[in-house]
Amino acid sequence: MIYSGFFIFSPLKKLIMRYLLVFVCFIYSLSIYGQTNLDDYLPKTVNFNSKIPTPKSVIGHNVGEWHVTHDKLVQYMYALANASDRITIENRGTTYEGRPLLLLTVTSAKNQNKIKSIQKNHIEATNNSNFVETDRPVVVYQGFSIHGNEPSGSNAALLLGYYLAAAEGNTIDNMLDNVVILLDPAFNPDGLQRFANWANTNKNQTIVTDPNDREYNEPWPGGRTNHYWFDMNRDWLPVQLPESKARIKTFHEWLPNILTDHHEMGTNSTFFFQPGIPSRTHPLTPKKNQNLTRAIGNFHAKALDSIGSLYYSEESYDDFYYGKGSTYPDINGSIGILFEQASSRGHAQESENGVLTFPFTIKNQFNTALSTLKAAENLRVDLLNYQSTFFKNARAEASKSKNKAIIFGNEKDAAKAVELAKILEHHHIDFYDIKSNVELNGKWYKKDHAFVIPKNQKNKRLIDAMFETRTKFQDSLFYDVSAWTLPLAFNLDYDETTMSNAGSLVESVAHLKGGLDRKSEYAYLAEWHDYYTPKLLSVLLEKDVRVKVGLKQFQHKGQEFDYGTLLIPVQQQSLNSQELYELINKAAKDAHMSVYSVDTGLNEGIDLGSNNFDAIDKPKIAILVGSGISSYDAGEIWHLLDTRYHMAVTKLDVNNINRADLSRYNTIIMPSSYSGLNQSNTKKVKAWVEKGGILISYRYALRWLDRKKLMSLKFKKPEDLNANNISFENRSKFSGAQRIGGAIFNTKLDRSHPINFGIKNEFLPMFRNTTLFLEPSEDSYNNPIQYTSTPLLSGYISEENLEVLGGTVPFKTQRLGRGRIIAFTDNTNFRAFWYGTNKLLMNAIFFSKQM
Ligand SMILES: [Zn+2]
Repeated sequence: MIYSGFFIFSPLKKLIMRYLLVFVCFIYSLSIYGQTNLDDYLPKTVNFNSKIPTPKSVIGHNVGEWHVTHDKLVQYMYALANASDRITIENRGTTYEGRPLLLLTVTSAKNQNKIKSIQKNHIEATNNSNFVETDRPVVVYQGFSIHGNEPSGSNAALLLGYYLAAAEGNTIDNMLDNVVILLDPAFNPDGLQRFANWANTNKNQTIVTDPNDREYNEPWPGGRTNHYWFDMNRDWLPVQLPESKARIKTFHEWLPNILTDHHEMGTNSTFFFQPGIPSRTHPLTPKKNQNLTRAIGNFHAKALDSIGSLYYSEESYDDFYYGKGSTYPDINGSIGILFEQASSRGHAQESENGVLTFPFTIKNQFNTALSTLKAAENLRVDLLNYQSTFFKNARAEASKSKNKAIIFGNEKDAAKAVELAKILEHHHIDFYDIKSNVELNGKWYKKDHAFVIPKNQKNKRLIDAMFETRTKFQDSLFYDVSAWTLPLAFNLDYDETTMSNAGSLVESVAHLKGGLDRKSEYAYLAEWHDYYTPKLLSVLLEKDVRVKVGLKQFQHKGQEFDYGTLLIPVQQQSLNSQELYELINKAAKDAHMSVYSVDTGLNEGIDLGSNNFDAIDKPKIAILVGSGISSYDAGEIWHLLDTRYHMAVTKLDVNNINRADLSRYNTIIMPSSYSGLNQSNTKKVKAWVEKGGILISYRYALRWLDRKKLMSLKFKKPEDLNANNISFENRSKFSGAQRIGGAIFNTKLDRSHPINFGIKNEFLPMFRNTTLFLEPSEDSYNNPIQYTSTPLLSGYISEENLEVLGGTVPFKTQRLGRGRIIAFTDNTNFRAFWYGTNKLLMNAIFFSKQM
């Protein structure tokens, strides 16, 4: 049967000529949008093996009739693997919600028998310039629906799996002989499940296409993201999430020649395939990559022409940020392809192109998945040669750097260096520990706290993509961030060096053991620099241990202790000295850090009994979530506190503020919000602050603070931003150039201010993607973090904005009654890889009383 959406996008006349039954089907489909049989999707000229189970026979419904839930998808993929000698299946890990991360390897039975040697040869061709054999399969990684509420991809994966297992004849046999397919049916199992649940539970028997129907309007936070509300299509380079870890492991074990990433876009659009906007391709990506992308695109165009679907390319999206699924492959000798299908969201929705049905969206994804394989088969030798040449050239570039290397670390914080090293490990980048402590440009790199990366290695281009800073660009528009320089995001010291500082190759990086040196009857001290120190503090406070924070630097028996050092006295605790020792020892081990025992309170500088050691309150935290709040920003904070520091936090929905007893909390975090809170919630939160609450607010929540006069904030703006000689056609480019998509800026710190405790250096790189420019206070001690006069470190910002930014402040705090409001103009927890500024939020949580 042919479903209605087919007509809307197709040259109607041609189809009527071709199919006499069309009219009957049309009437039928008008009454039952979306119901569709397997035959409607599949090529008419192909026979299918009846021994292979159809999707319906396993999951109980036709493809496109309901939204496939992840558990049913898993069930079907296992059924296919059981029934077909073309398919093997593996589970590579689990999501946060415990769902499997499946991978199907699909190729001819003949290839399956020697799959290990195919894989070995494939990798060998990227390592060895003498390996020129091209009589071998090309490798294609096909992944679907990384945004869970863009479901046509994963639903098309049912069809693709069936087709690959069941199709018979020369066409499929030749293709499977020449292609190894890595089929990843759901990039985002948790999001897919969440969305399928919504779409299915709101489906009507009599399909309603009205966009106002509940079916087409998901509740906050939607199914796009994973469990902690992360956009996983930004995590291919930072690799902080379990789904990405499994995927990147497969990627490097196979180095596919093509990787496809099937998405959905707005309901009123058509279909997009890459190449994206040519001027926005990252300069580290070879030109030939985009030529091959275009050559592959011709196969998609032909496939979509044949089913009458409209499409476009080169007018939107780009290949700049290497953290996206369609761009990450481009810096690894592969071709990344983005597909974007107009979304029906639910089962059938009115659009500018007529009624867009779910089956129609699935059919387009299925057909472009097939055209990808056709392109791979036809361009096989080109793709294989391109990849081996890519690595040959990369090795040649790398060998020019001889024994040059990058050293990175932090003498006060081993954990952050290890976390960055783990990213290198995920990307198969070699690194070494250091031979001995070394001082470079005034910074100390110490053993176990620093690593050395040789530049002369296979993945040198990827190293460049992670470590370079860039401030000049061909285009002034970016689909996503324009900078992600990892050592800056981690706030780690780094320098150019040589391999003479390298010790031995690190096979598997691990955190330091940590713990206590010995039991004390007097006190324990812990510096605040280590990344996981808040985890230790939180455990102690949770057990009602009294902990104090040192407001000044001091020396104890010659050892230096910085601002923010934690002091845990042994006496007058509810635990006895043995219990306290055991608790701290375990907590220190869990936090991978060292804690020191001391037997005297006498120091150089403040003594341990000084009033400059101040008691820390146990935080009782609520994060505001729900309608109006940025789910990304909220999710990042939830993820940080829950998974990294193991702190219990309440996710308080803004719709429940009016009936919640706010006195349960001493800290409320308000992530970015355009709308702010309504009148009555504002009143309630204000009263709570006045009674002693700490309100920590981010980004656009500052506009609300300003509007409601909770804080007096002065925003700066660039002057004279009128368009001169900008045509109507180019107007959006003009306004877009004033956006800050995401760049890195330098700030100067007053390290004695509690907001900066635990940060070693006087300068701190910060992420920014807003144009909220805050005037500094007239009193310098109220500007503990201030942008330098020339703050741009990496990324794009317009000249006008850069001029205004210098000297402004990203942080402000003010008292309100007995409480305090803390405001950050920008995100300090961006995408879970900005380790360098997470400490600012933790300081706001633990040390606001000391500000
Ligand atoms: Zn998407």
